Amino acid sequence: MPRKLVAGNWKMHGLSGDLAEASVLPAPPDVDILLCPPATLITRMVQAVEGIMVGAQDCHPSAKGAHTGDLSAAMLHDAGASYVILGHSERRTDHGETDALVRAKTEAAWSENLIAIVCIGETEAQYKTGGTLDVLRGQLARSLPDSAPAERLVIAYEPVWAIGTGLVPTAAEIAAAHQEIRTWLANSFGTETAEGIRLLYGGSVKPSNAAGIFAVPNVDGALVGGASLTAADFGPIIKALAVA
Ligand code: PEP
Repeated sequence: MPRKLVAGNWKMHGLSGDLAEASVLPAPPDVDILLCPPATLITRMVQAVEGIMVGAQDCHPSAKGAHTGDLSAAMLHDAGASYVILGHSERRTDHGETDALVRAKTEAAWSENLIAIVCIGETEAQYKTGGTLDVLRGQLARSLPDSAPAERLVIAYEPVWAIGTGLVPTAAEIAAAHQEIRTWLANSFGTETAEGIRLLYGGSVKPSNAAGIFAVPNVDGALVGGASLTAADFGPIIKALAVA
């Protein structure tokens, strides 16, 4: 069983004063806690907060070069990041990111010893036409390198229609998606590797629904957006994972 992981994605939220939210989070021993603030806060969060890991929200696929405004995996590692979120649906929508680009970014992250959290998930239209599992298999096939070290890869299943909407799939739907992802990973990388890769659910996880989501088979934790911004919301989610 891999260690449980709860990751907070602050997106484009957070100034210096918000670091106080991170410093009062509970730190149960059996749970890895990760916060991914804006890149401007990575170093200060690492310095200010003990007991949690700090990650980035994206990286460029190249090691260096003429890419104004972008950050390489090496820069993020140098700033103190140990994880990086890749292929989040907001990156795919806002910046036109493709699966092939996510794959290149994953390779770049691994070359700098970052742990990649690769996000996949179906749109509302794909969900409504019953295409979820096909979409997930396709995204996995195109977004992941040919081999994967279990300790460097996390998959986040995030239905696009559930992100920031308050809508959440049923437990049975989450179970089916996570089972499909585990099976795909086992067929591609072997059973032992697949069992070591953490599978996170993401999309409107709140204190009120966290325990139910964490009880679903093959859910090793969560990727949390809005509810990770305050200790009042993120704390209870961390505690729910600790007792799951
Ligand atoms: C996310 O952005 O990854 C996310 C899951 O957001 P929220 O928890 O706000 O739905």
